[in-house]
Amino acid sequence: MKKLLITGANGGIGEAVCNLLGDRYEIFVLGRNKSKIKELCTKYKFIKGSFICDLNNENQITQIIKEIETNSIDFDILINNAGITNDALFLRMDLEKWQRVIDTNLKANFLLTSALSKKMIKKKWGRIINITSVVGHTGNFGQSNYSASKAGIVGMSKSIALELAKRNITVNCIAPGFIETSMTSVLSESQRKSLIEKIPMGKIGSPLDVANCVEFLVSEKSEYVTGQTLHVNGGLAML
Ligand code: NDP
Repeated sequence: MKKLLITGANGGIGEAVCNLLGDRYEIFVLGRNKSKIKELCTKYKFIKGSFICDLNNENQITQIIKEIETNSIDFDILINNAGITNDALFLRMDLEKWQRVIDTNLKANFLLTSALSKKMIKKKWGRIINITSVVGHTGNFGQSNYSASKAGIVGMSKSIALELAKRNITVNCIAPGFIETSMTSVLSESQRKSLIEKIPMGKIGSPLDVANCVEFLVSEKSEYVTGQTLHVNGGLAML
């Protein structure tokens, strides 16, 4: 069975991916909250291992990479799924908010991809899936930091995809629109209503809608797909 590491595994999309792929892959999960990760591992007994790491903290990421190397876990698949928002209108966007989102969403992705891809190169097979966002392509009010982090991942993914294509490693992004998870639970009723009016399919997506795309991109069926972004947004933006 191929070994898969997913970050932000206890979140809405992360859990849906674990639930969908647990019978076909050796799943390892990474999260920052020990009790949430413990709960996830208790719920899904198939989870093979877990790592506790705050992706906003470079030292902790370095430690986890060492732990993975010490235990000789050669991951075939990396799903960079963890992400945060920290919204403010641009004129009020301070460096702290900017840096926190860039570090958690983009820098951590780079560090993990850089470390784990080395073993994939040796194995001559690998899949890297990055969860981005529609707003990395369209921009969004109050999200200059978040949009930049997600657009940054897209550019980075294309470059890595070019460099690793001959090594039989594919690198792709999935850009969700609005998905029913704790990230969108902060929307007020009126915000939800006006949002749904803008979505041609007339509904917010489910975490499973995203997990189904992850399933395709980690599988052998996607072997000729690299450097792409799969948009999962109910038609909200046709990019
Ligand atoms: P959730 O908030 O449910 O999940 C986010 C996950 O990321 C949680 O497990 C969270 O851990 C983890 N996380 C956040 N910060 C850190 C950190 N510093 N270190 C380690 N883990 C961290 O949201 P989603 O499931 O919706 O989000 C998954 C991905 O999908 C994100 O990258 C998000 O940007 C993207 N996305 C989501 C959309 C949506 O509408 N829901 C739309 C577009 C993109 P904890 O529980 O401990 O906070």
